Amino acid sequence: MLPERVAAPEIDAGAERLRIGGLTPLTSIDFPGRLAAVLFCQGCPWRCGYCHNPDLLDASIPGNLPWARVLAFLTQRRGLLDGVVFSGGEPTLQAALPAALAQVRSLGFEAALHTGGMYPRRLAELLPLLDWTGLDIKGPLQRHDAITGAPGSGLRSRESLGYLLASGVAYECRTTWHPGLFSVDELLALADELATLGVTHWALQECRAAGAAPFALTPVQTQALAARFSHFTLRRN
Ligand code: SF4
Repeated sequence: MLPERVAAPEIDAGAERLRIGGLTPLTSIDFPGRLAAVLFCQGCPWRCGYCHNPDLLDASIPGNLPWARVLAFLTQRRGLLDGVVFSGGEPTLQAALPAALAQVRSLGFEAALHTGGMYPRRLAELLPLLDWTGLDIKGPLQRHDAITGAPGSGLRSRESLGYLLASGVAYECRTTWHPGLFSVDELLALADELATLGVTHWALQECRAAGAAPFALTPVQTQALAARFSHFTLRRN
């Protein structure tokens, strides 16, 4: 339960406009090496068929968690939580995100972002406020737009990746996959592309959506993927 009455810092007028659809009070897996809370931001311009948070996609839906309640919660968690993760939906959709990040950091928390990278310039401007970023790489360029339902999304994600790698901010690139999205050969080619671009931290996540084809990688194929990165994570269900 979130606290109803807690002395909290003065509310930042910009951050107050952030539309938040939900909060996870404690996670140890969404911000590597940190105990964190997760704020789920409302709205996303993409429509991935396997989206695990469909209730957060509609950007016209108002948030259901006022920023004042978030601040009250975080004030109570000072010294207990290391950081706050802005997830979604797509956090960079909202103009209020920079102010929200700044206020969270002003309270002494580290800040992390989960993004699909659909707004490269916005990401570039946010990176100085971030301690860690999880960037989705939906697939190879030739498959990306079909996965997201958004023309041009693949090029946007690659531009965002360029900004992220150039920034020096700690990160993980992650790809959600099942063989129905694209072939194993294309997956290996994607790993090649990312490694060539300079990605060192890559996670391959089994797609858990209903109707997803069974995850099918041989040990040799998995090793071939892992060999391309200094930090490779395979997340199975
Ligand atoms: S980018 Fe993320 S939040 Fe948006 S539709 Fe795809 S999986 Fe869902």
